[in-house]
Amino acid sequence: MTFPVSRRIENLLPSDIRLMTKACERVGGINLGQGLGDLPAPALVRDAAIQAIQDGQNTYTASEGIPPLRQAIARKLQRDNGLDVDPDSQIVISAGTTGAFAATLTALFNPGDGILLLEPYYGYHLNTILLQGLEAQFLTLAAPTFSLEENALAAAIKPNTRAVVICTPSNPSGKLFSTEELAIVERVARQHNLLVISDEIYEYITYDGRQHISPASIAGLAERTVSIMGFSKTFSITGWRLGYAVAKPELAKAINLVNDLLYVCAPSPLQHGVAAGLSAPPEYFEKLRSQYQRKRDIICDGLAAAGLTPLVPQGAYYVLADISHFAYPDAKTAALALLEQTGVAGVPGSSFYQGSEGEGLIRFCFAKDDETLYDAVQRLSVFRR
Ligand code: PLP
Repeated sequence: MTFPVSRRIENLLPSDIRLMTKACERVGGINLGQGLGDLPAPALVRDAAIQAIQDGQNTYTASEGIPPLRQAIARKLQRDNGLDVDPDSQIVISAGTTGAFAATLTALFNPGDGILLLEPYYGYHLNTILLQGLEAQFLTLAAPTFSLEENALAAAIKPNTRAVVICTPSNPSGKLFSTEELAIVERVARQHNLLVISDEIYEYITYDGRQHISPASIAGLAERTVSIMGFSKTFSITGWRLGYAVAKPELAKAINLVNDLLYVCAPSPLQHGVAAGLSAPPEYFEKLRSQYQRKRDIICDGLAAAGLTPLVPQGAYYVLADISHFAYPDAKTAALALLEQTGVAGVPGSSFYQGSEGEGLIRFCFAKDDETLYDAVQRLSVFRR
């Protein structure tokens, strides 16, 4: 007897990241495909989580998270994001940024509503939209600057569009949205009564002195933005599954209702760990930036030397390399050839676009130790067209 799978998952797109990871394992190569975040988790965060386990903080918490964490987040939002929020009614701790994004979509939209993604997009955003029976809509931001133009954004809004997703700093492009671009988002969102969902998981990973700007800090955007943030990248704890959504109280209440049904609560002792982490001194965040900037420079210099043109990122820990001058018919063929010839796995750029704009691109993740990156760039030099 066979059972069909749900129609909701039939349309999900298989991830090329998984495909490249498997192919990389087969050849024993260096996997610059997936973004695991290989830095050690800070002792402050680890020790507080271990202490919480020892102290018996091992039961369910309130679905919106423990008060000390929500209070620490409210202080952090004021200090680092320019946002004034009430920790009791506006913050929902969830199972990672991924959980917060899924709970937001379920809580605030109806099947058939349109959610606009800016290309290149993060694959989980697209698949979560599809999983919810929502309509994914797209606007391509052209490489290498990925600038957002007002006319283009306005033209991408359809009658059923209800929200636009802004990922800043962006995975995969590393783009940081400027104040001017966010003001464009505000005008268009106001004109079309859209919600803005901002994914800011890489907020502390920015380069060359650039500042991350939270969309909700732009005048007029706070009331129509759900800010989604997390700890995976800031504290290199991608396996802990902790993130949060920030929204005005009536939206946060709906998000928390779904959050409760989907996850009950985020891992209890680990919430204590990240609450401690948020009081890390400014030097922690400075060091995080400078470590990743060094890694960015190692990979970008190595890519350039190997003839793969890096689109140098402003933030996050990925770089798109332009390989369109190599004679491969598409990005997947190129990524597989690169793996075969050099033992380095990247992700085909086609994974981040609906159309053909990504066919000349490969994404590399540089959240790896320096030695691995030096080894990878050394190997890249043998890549041939
Ligand atoms: N959002 C973006 C843009 C990401 O790149 C990732 C992970 O790579 C996530 C969210 C996942 O975040 P979390 O581990 O908090 O679920």
